[in-house]
Amino acid sequence: MSEPSIFTRILQGEIPGEILIETENVFAIRDINPQAPLHVLVIPKTEQYRDVTELAAGDPALLAEVVAVAKRIAVEHANGEYRLIFNNGPSAGQSVFHVHGHVLGDIEENKLVGF
Ligand code: AMP
Repeated sequence: MSEPSIFTRILQGEIPGEILIETENVFAIRDINPQAPLHVLVIPKTEQYRDVTELAAGDPALLAEVVAVAKRIAVEHANGEYRLIFNNGPSAGQSVFHVHGHVLGDIEENKLVGF
């Protein structure tokens, strides 16, 4: 068995983190290094999928739930509009291989580039 991911360790309370939403299958935490006024990670509880390509192929309903939770975060914590970013592979910026979507909201004008 491999070690739990950093996100699972936050969910389990082993390391600190701000959990904004927890459903049966998905949870959302604030990113420790925010790239926008709202920057939240939406994460399936299962570590079975490394990235969104695997998640889409393996469990499309769970991917749909991730998107629904992203929207809920944007409505509850920003103006309802949001970017949803999945990094896929190290050269594309992925550093944690437990699939997660970045929800960015309340983005200032002309600040879309760079992430
Ligand atoms: P990625 O680079 O797409 O794999 O995204 C990983 C994200 O996890 C980065 O945006 C990090 O800032 C974030 N991150 C890493 N450690 C923590 C932590 N302890 N709490 C919250 N977010 C974290």
